[in-house]
Amino acid sequence: MTPTPQSSPKMRLRQGRLYASGLCAAATMAKMPSALTVLNHEVVNCARCPRLVAYREQVGREKRRAYRDHEYWARPVPGFGDPHARVLVLGLAPGAHGSNRTGRPFTGDASGKFMYPILYKVGFASQPNADHRDDGLKLLDCYITAAVRCAPPDNKPLPSELANCAPFLDRELAILKNLKVVVALGKIGFDAYLNYLKRNSVIQNRAGYAFAHAASYSMPNGVVLLASYHPSNQNTATGKLTAPMFEQVFREAKKIAAGK
Ligand code: SF4
Repeated sequence: MTPTPQSSPKMRLRQGRLYASGLCAAATMAKMPSALTVLNHEVVNCARCPRLVAYREQVGREKRRAYRDHEYWARPVPGFGDPHARVLVLGLAPGAHGSNRTGRPFTGDASGKFMYPILYKVGFASQPNADHRDDGLKLLDCYITAAVRCAPPDNKPLPSELANCAPFLDRELAILKNLKVVVALGKIGFDAYLNYLKRNSVIQNRAGYAFAHAASYSMPNGVVLLASYHPSNQNTATGKLTAPMFEQVFREAKKIAAGK
């Protein structure tokens, strides 16, 4: 029987090659790092701010007495969570002995001890505790990042350091395509998101967007910006921010993300 063109040895060979090259492409794609992985790799190797590089490393060398046996991360802290998240938590910066020690946002400090049980209660975290990078914590429909990714002295980044770090936030926000809500923790996180919108010509200026706990703004890009006091020890120990106040913000975020 004369072979049909589709089953000729030559064609089968070509189909085999095509199939094989398709497999290769699939395998290559499977091995390709995601855009977030590439970004986070750049973040952890960044040394753009000399003052912050010196400080994060000094803290890592000198250590707090309680952590003297710990190997500090002492590098920029990358974002963490679900790449398909609809809710972004935008904080200020790593804590000197928290994420600057553990390498993961809000992990191993008082702010995280306050925040993660609430994220867990509302359904954004798989467990209430965040002790170290390998503790199994997963964020659900939630991603956490910061305006500045290196621990600053006195938790106060300079305007130039915020500006240096802003391109990382821009890239992160471009990758997190499903975002519907940004929960800004503190005024610096709040302003960081407004500045991002300004850089991208979504808003002309920050006038009309005042920071207040539980303030909510529907932004022209379709994202709702929710403001919260930062869960710093200073705010939570003094009762300026209580657990019910914080929980309410995340319940609101969940409702908005679900389109309710
Ligand atoms: S704060 Fe940001 S820009 Fe500055 S060194 Fe750290 S990662 Fe780099």
